[in-house]
Amino acid sequence: MQKKISNRISELGEFGLISRIAAGVAPAEGVITGIGDDAAVTALTAGMQLLTSTDMLLEEVHFRRTWHDPFRLGRKSLAVSISDIAAMGGIPRWALLSLALPADLPLDYLDSFTHGFLAMAAEHGVALIGGDTCASRSGLIISVTIMAEQFPERIIRRSTARPGDDIWVTGTLGDAALGLSLLEKKLPIPPGEGRGEGAFDSLVNRLLDPTPRTAAGITLAESGLISGMIDISDGLLADFGHIAEMSGVGGRLELDALPVSAAFRSLAGSLADFPQHCLLSGGEDYELAFTAPEANREKIAVLMKNSGIPVTPVGIVTSSPDVTVVLSDGSCWQPQPPGFNHFT
Ligand SMILES: [Mg+2]
Repeated sequence: MQKKISNRISELGEFGLISRIAAGVAPAEGVITGIGDDAAVTALTAGMQLLTSTDMLLEEVHFRRTWHDPFRLGRKSLAVSISDIAAMGGIPRWALLSLALPADLPLDYLDSFTHGFLAMAAEHGVALIGGDTCASRSGLIISVTIMAEQFPERIIRRSTARPGDDIWVTGTLGDAALGLSLLEKKLPIPPGEGRGEGAFDSLVNRLLDPTPRTAAGITLAESGLISGMIDISDGLLADFGHIAEMSGVGGRLELDALPVSAAFRSLAGSLADFPQHCLLSGGEDYELAFTAPEANREKIAVLMKNSGIPVTPVGIVTSSPDVTVVLSDGSCWQPQPPGFNHFT
């Protein structure tokens, strides 16, 4: 069947479309043959292993075109994949981008999306080496596959946390979830705040244009100081829960220790109920949660301070399999069920 994309995009045809995307791609280290042949050819660094991860972003499931401008959507499409690589300490190298495009999508939308995607790629040392395009009858569909490399002994998994380890997080939590709640008007926008305001825009930008923690992931992996790691895409409770499950351990998280941004504090503080659920279960911050022996606490603090990466200890790994939260009054809360479920 002949592919029919849209009047404007179809003027280019599929090969014109690919050329348009490929025009922004610069030659890159390790790429022997890039876009244009039947398959890409890349060269791994000697002694390193290949890490591969793939993600789909579906319109109305993962993003809304009415909120998400194409430039930041392009950036985020790659950022979420880079975040999975950061979570294992990998060095991101190459990406494949596949797009199913609705008939009414303007060409300048595609151009802006591509600029965003390639800007994120350049910031994290990623080269676009191929992909696919086709027509979509139901919204914009984006699929990104990322490849990375790392020496085998430096790759950090979810399955290697040990009882007694500290639980750490990078950056701040809950910003993207609070941004989403405000955009969706599930939480009232406090008087004097709104689009164009500093705190509001800062939270919404965490949602629409997340920054993957590439440098933090590599620095921690190369330090040899940590035991397990994951990126926080579905909320700290759910994502630490994956470490706990895979490692056969549990954890105790201190609510008051969770790091909060100034924007979060200023907006959340003016709401009637402080949105603690955003800190514990809010998705899409794309920070890292990692575990490390207590004996390494000081070394980690110094290393990350010298690297300019904010990190905070937020709890402890336990031998009992439950994940509990110590609330401000010292009482324990056992959440059930944690995090975001894609199928509800
Ligand atoms: Mg992940």
